[in-house]
Amino acid sequence: MDPATAPPPPPPPPFAVHLVTGGGSSPELALLLRSLAAARVVALDAEWKPRRRGTPAAAAPAGPGDGTSPATAPAPAPPQFPTVTLLQVVCRSGDGGEGEVFVVDLLAVPLAELWAPLRDLFERPDVLKLGFRFKQDLVYLSATFAAALGRDAGFGRVEPFLDVTNIYYYLKGHDRQKKLPKETKSLATICEELLSISLSKELQCSDWSCRPLSEGQIQYAALDAYYLLDIFDLFQQKITMEGKCSSTTELTSDRHCSSSVIECSSSGYDICSGGYLMSIVTKYSEKILLTESGTKPRSSRRKEKTKLPTNAKCKDKVACCTEWQGPPPWDPSIGGDGYPKFLCDVMIEGLAKHLRCVGIDAAIPSPKKPEPRELLNQTYKEGRILLTRDVKLLKYQYLASNQVYRVKSLLKHGQLAEVINTFQLKISKDQLMSRCTKCNGSFIQKPLTLEEAVEASKGFQVIPLCLFNRNLEFWKCTNCNQLYWEGTQYHNAVQKFLSVCNISD
Ligand SMILES: [Zn+2]
Repeated sequence: MDPATAPPPPPPPPFAVHLVTGGGSSPELALLLRSLAAARVVALDAEWKPRRRGTPAAAAPAGPGDGTSPATAPAPAPPQFPTVTLLQVVCRSGDGGEGEVFVVDLLAVPLAELWAPLRDLFERPDVLKLGFRFKQDLVYLSATFAAALGRDAGFGRVEPFLDVTNIYYYLKGHDRQKKLPKETKSLATICEELLSISLSKELQCSDWSCRPLSEGQIQYAALDAYYLLDIFDLFQQKITMEGKCSSTTELTSDRHCSSSVIECSSSGYDICSGGYLMSIVTKYSEKILLTESGTKPRSSRRKEKTKLPTNAKCKDKVACCTEWQGPPPWDPSIGGDGYPKFLCDVMIEGLAKHLRCVGIDAAIPSPKKPEPRELLNQTYKEGRILLTRDVKLLKYQYLASNQVYRVKSLLKHGQLAEVINTFQLKISKDQLMSRCTKCNGSFIQKPLTLEEAVEASKGFQVIPLCLFNRNLEFWKCTNCNQLYWEGTQYHNAVQKFLSVCNISD
């Protein structure tokens, strides 16, 4: 290589690495757990022993309380994922700062002490997780913990999550609305392009199960995760400069979202103090979900349980031949005030609620278990578009082809985004929360005062005491009389829907 054009060698790590090797009373583990609890942004990476072709993966670590290897070989083990031997964690707390860098030796730290804190971290809504194509890491990590602690000790979900690949494309000016390019950049390439730093590839495939780890290995592992945070900083700078999060920041600093309101919040997390970060989360983050079958090297024959397979990055696995192309797939003469009206099949009733939240008329079937014919009748009579996940319903010739649409996304938010995009719905901010989520009814014209609301709620609905002295407006559903007000949940929901509906103002 021409030394003149070669990227400069990596500088020594600008931070101290905490190598966590002990359990129980070890000070590094204690520090790690404290940092995790205080963190608002956490970068994650994992290393495992590279698998040699043709050889089965290394056996899982011994179970709890089993410190020795068995002398006799057990029955041939089923195929296994590689065992994760190192987990890198960089925590940045609420007050910003450099971030604490941890390299956690999973062959030494008792996994039982790490599992619950890690699961909490992965799922805490107020902590943004950063990673680079982290789903694979999560699958292996999950398998590693499950092998050691029992099958329930895996990890099902990382949310909210931001992938550095997406940040990279954002920084490169890629249009968010468009699909990401197919080619995937390596982390080394991304670091080189964005940070002008060259990551050593030499150690990437070193044996991460060998102990003791060399100083080089520890530094390499730490840098990998550390630079994720650096790249996130670039991203934050860019959106700050562009003022991309101003509207949602405004929303979180809304007068309703004062500390007194938070007492009423069920989640217990203070969304307001990290308003800026949360607006990034709302707007840009995604989640990683592992399915039951996705956590096994070979798919089992068991039926899918309640957990639905999904991942924002996943290609749709469901074969579909009903892709809408061209103009919005509805005939305005069918009905709706410039917006189509929908009927959501029983499997996607959650979507009906979400559509109502953004002001769209979305009914559910009148009978609890409707026959296909009843569904189609209601669709036709009420001038609706039937939304379904049931491919069989598409076969009925009874409905015009523009009156039934098969929803492909598996989770409510994805489904809402899919319907909004497919039907090209332009949702405005004042449409949000303008319809009764319970019954699809519309609200009274004028809001009620607290006194009127208390009167209206008698024997029917309890208005929490914490809402008194708050000067709130109450809205009543004209159909079912349900009362609504703008509490914490309202504001959280508005934020979520602002981003799903692509509303920016
Ligand atoms: Zn209602």
